[in-house]
Amino acid sequence: MTAQLTPQTDPRHALLFQPLRIGPVTAPNRFYQVPHCTGVADRAPEDVAAMREMKAMGGWGVVCTENIEISADADISPYPALRFAADSDIARQARMADLVHRHGALAGAELAHMGLYSANRTSRRTSIGPSSRMLIEAVEPVQARAMDKADIRALRLDHKAAARRARAAGFDIVYVYASHNLSIATHFLSRRFNDRGDEYGGSLENRARLLRELLQDTHEAVGDRCAVALRFAVEEFLGPDGLTHDGEGRDVVELLKDLPDLWDVNLSDWSNDSQTARFSQEAFQEPYVRFVKTVTGKPVVGVGRFTSPDTMADQIKRGVLDLIGAARPSIADPFLPRKIAEGRSDDIRECIGCNICLSCENSFVPIRCTQNPTMMEEGRKLWHPEVIPARSSDDSVLIVGGGPAGLEAALSLGRRGHFVTLAEADDSFGGRVSREARLPGLSAWARVRDYRLGQLAKLPNVSLFPASRMQCDDVLGFGAARLVIATGARWRREPLGRGGRTAAALQAPVLTPDDIMAGHLPRGQVLVHDTEGGYIGGLVAEALQANGAKVTFSTPALSHCGFLSLTLEQHRALTRLVTLGVTLISSHDLIAFEPGLARLAPIYGAGAREIPADHLVLVADRIPDDRLALELLSSPQRLHSSGVRTVDRIGDCLAPGLIANAVYSGHLLARAF
Ligand code: ADP
Ligand code: SF4
Repeated sequence: MTAQLTPQTDPRHALLFQPLRIGPVTAPNRFYQVPHCTGVADRAPEDVAAMREMKAMGGWGVVCTENIEISADADISPYPALRFAADSDIARQARMADLVHRHGALAGAELAHMGLYSANRTSRRTSIGPSSRMLIEAVEPVQARAMDKADIRALRLDHKAAARRARAAGFDIVYVYASHNLSIATHFLSRRFNDRGDEYGGSLENRARLLRELLQDTHEAVGDRCAVALRFAVEEFLGPDGLTHDGEGRDVVELLKDLPDLWDVNLSDWSNDSQTARFSQEAFQEPYVRFVKTVTGKPVVGVGRFTSPDTMADQIKRGVLDLIGAARPSIADPFLPRKIAEGRSDDIRECIGCNICLSCENSFVPIRCTQNPTMMEEGRKLWHPEVIPARSSDDSVLIVGGGPAGLEAALSLGRRGHFVTLAEADDSFGGRVSREARLPGLSAWARVRDYRLGQLAKLPNVSLFPASRMQCDDVLGFGAARLVIATGARWRREPLGRGGRTAAALQAPVLTPDDIMAGHLPRGQVLVHDTEGGYIGGLVAEALQANGAKVTFSTPALSHCGFLSLTLEQHRALTRLVTLGVTLISSHDLIAFEPGLARLAPIYGAGAREIPADHLVLVADRIPDDRLALELLSSPQRLHSSGVRTVDRIGDCLAPGLIANAVYSGHLLARAF
């Protein structure tokens, strides 16, 4: 059963539960999981189907697939994708539609040919596009050939055949994809990629011809059984070189206005659509997409990292959107709609906008989520995001350390029914989450802490003790049968980076990100040297420069903050630093620092560079704070005589990593207990 309006629903949110007709089908409510990737697609179809089913169970009225390649020359390998290239693909994709239908939701299929993005490295077909162009983000320096009329006819036939397969597989909504600069229809629309002299090039009407034909073909293929949706990016942020919401983006909506049964509108490219919390707020797409409903009479769905039911209801009430689209909020909380329906909005596990999920897709592994450790474990581990088996022993548990690992372990063990004590040395809980949330733009990350503290407050069997630094004797004297050590890590003060390469001569004290996050922000000339390559280095540089320092940000890597290319933030983060006046130096090792001066040596070639620097902040790696755990483990006799049966280490005190790793580590421990 899909989430129905219940008496508990806050009346302000009632309109979120009104059904809506989309062409020949009816969405049971306004919660719409737009197409989003999984990092595995057809490499693990059962896992993907189980994850989608969880969304339907959690009340999403429409649940969509990710990209489905329509043919062998739509091949985007090594990126994972689903396929509807042959009739033999039907049964595999039907599984997801069946599971979604079991819970009363509609299933949507996103058909795609990614044009200049399809390098066809597996199928070995020649890539195709409107004109001869370099492929977009190609691994190899390869160009597409310009399609002739026979190619266009073949593409249309492939798309139509895929639409028939989607209908045969039981999907209710079938997509034509023209978004993110990842679609052949977009490439035809774009003056950047289309310099054809025939009826498919030139005027906007001509450039939109293929998109119009694909929509018409899809209608013909699915008849009155399925709705036809168009996923369309109304704004590319390229000024006159691209589609704009007040220029050609709007003109396309006017040209095609009632042709699709549903407009699924967003921003392009993907980094603009899936902006992180660091660079955007909830509902950030509204200024660009709100015109769409004034042009078309068809329903409109849009996204904007919606997690607040008030904001969602407001979008519908003000006529901005008809359906609340979500990818990331549905990953962080597959049960978000049901919680609103049951008047439990406080229980929503809100997306923090960190894009760790996207980093997984971009590195071809199953998506994981900082907030939701069960993401993509629904099928292979049978983990439910809201249900955890009752405890299998009466063991009481002492957890030392209330960062993300300790908080998640306390919550999940508490939900299993164990008596849990969580002791934290600081005056408040949160650990690194509280520290990192103080960095520029990361305040939403505190949701990792706040969600868990909110849920823990509802568990009478869990006791929280802040301001309680535990020593070995305290722990042994506590009387718990099971000890969980989650004491975290600290940033290294010595110059040892990736691979242990750098051995700089340091003749003055250095600072670490821990100092900056603790509020010690030096002014004057500051060198931030980052050998880690994650998100912290750039944020430290930004915080210092914004506080009045003159910052130089150096790294031995080819480019700064390389990890942020996977979270689609790197260009934004570096643009912000340069705009603030930070000097960027890449491909340089730090070789010496003395008061007033740092010396950097190029990775390639010879010759050192001197940088004026009153202060040096090293962003190297982190040292696990495992002293307590090791002391406990070193005396099995004392453990035994104190009645301690197990000692587990979790999170950063075991192996420093992302917050997502710490949360997962706490959850895994609780499941395995
Ligand atoms: P993780 O990401 O693994 O959760 P954090 O560094 O975020 O790690 O959190 C570790 C927490 O453990 C910190 O809040 C720290 O204050 C706390 N802590 C460390 N040592 C002790 C201790 N001996 N007793 C109680 N709390 C501790
Ligand atoms: Fe949101 Fe981060 Fe989870 Fe992605 S990984 S859904 S951005 S909390």
